[in-house]
Amino acid sequence: MRTKVINVGNIQIGGGNPISIQTMWDEPVKTVDKDLINRLNDIQSVGCDIIRFAVPTINDVPVIGEIAKKITMPVVADIHFDYKIALECMNYPIAKIRINPGNIGARWKVEEVLKKATDKNIPIRVGINGGSLPSDLRSYSNLSQALVTAAEREMEFFDSVNFNNFLVSLKASNIEDGYLANKVFSQKYNTPLHLGITEAGSLIPSVVKSSLFLYRLLSEGIGDTIRISISDNPLKEIYAANEILSALKLNKRERVNLISCPKCGRSTFDTHEFTTLVQKKLATVNKNISVAVMGCTVNGPQEAKHADLGITGSGNTILIFKSGEIIKRVTKEEALDVFIQEIDNFEK
Ligand code: SF4
Repeated sequence: MRTKVINVGNIQIGGGNPISIQTMWDEPVKTVDKDLINRLNDIQSVGCDIIRFAVPTINDVPVIGEIAKKITMPVVADIHFDYKIALECMNYPIAKIRINPGNIGARWKVEEVLKKATDKNIPIRVGINGGSLPSDLRSYSNLSQALVTAAEREMEFFDSVNFNNFLVSLKASNIEDGYLANKVFSQKYNTPLHLGITEAGSLIPSVVKSSLFLYRLLSEGIGDTIRISISDNPLKEIYAANEILSALKLNKRERVNLISCPKCGRSTFDTHEFTTLVQKKLATVNKNISVAVMGCTVNGPQEAKHADLGITGSGNTILIFKSGEIIKRVTKEEALDVFIQEIDNFEK
């Protein structure tokens, strides 16, 4: 079922729009300085569309509001427990409010939030999580059904007050329940879905679980926006999301395909270090090219000759190659800058 479109700042979610990528800022924010804004802009430059901040107390609202004024990425305020925080956030250019209505309390409090959201034309995400279901649903043996039921209760209430500017997330920490909940929901409603595995773990477990989960849903055409939750730097969440969407051919802009060898006893070039250094740069490049980082000349240029550009080492010399042909020899110190310049200048 085609979902309806929800506008989150300058990003449209649902209705066949490209799948947007979200992350959540991973530390408390007490002041807004240049360094913070630069880091947020970095996250946007590698492909993040929407950034969410926890707003634990009402005193945190002005800081999040100030961030929203200073960056072009839409800012989502994540609110638990206190509806007054949500109301106060809407006095700032916040693009979306995420609430877990189950812990906001009395219905009239949720209604206050919806009234102000209507006045300000701010969408709401109903964030249903397996770990924080209403008490009567926690005993359900079928978690996927409990997630859907929790969402339906909120949607009935939203409907009763004529509020329809919302999307939903149904998150479990395991693939199967998350998949089933979203599948069942998508068959019944045209509400856009924010997909993710909650508490997905550190880098490797999260990327494995998130990939399998998202592959199933997105390849069935289910899901409108994603967040890969990783116990690590938010940049890695964006890298992972980019890779998943690229693999499914759902990426909205052209991307560099990075090929790199794991290196072995023959290596004369540290592919581990270099891929880490070059990864952030590659994520900002909007070109549909392949780039190879290979550990040695034994197999490097030959194995990667299908790559548009590549780099490897031979003794102390670093070789840059194009479609398998060596085009430059540089020192280790020069390698990163020269390689980045070659990528920037590359035209097919
Ligand atoms: S390219 Fe060279 S260093 Fe890398 S895995 Fe192959 S043989 Fe080993």
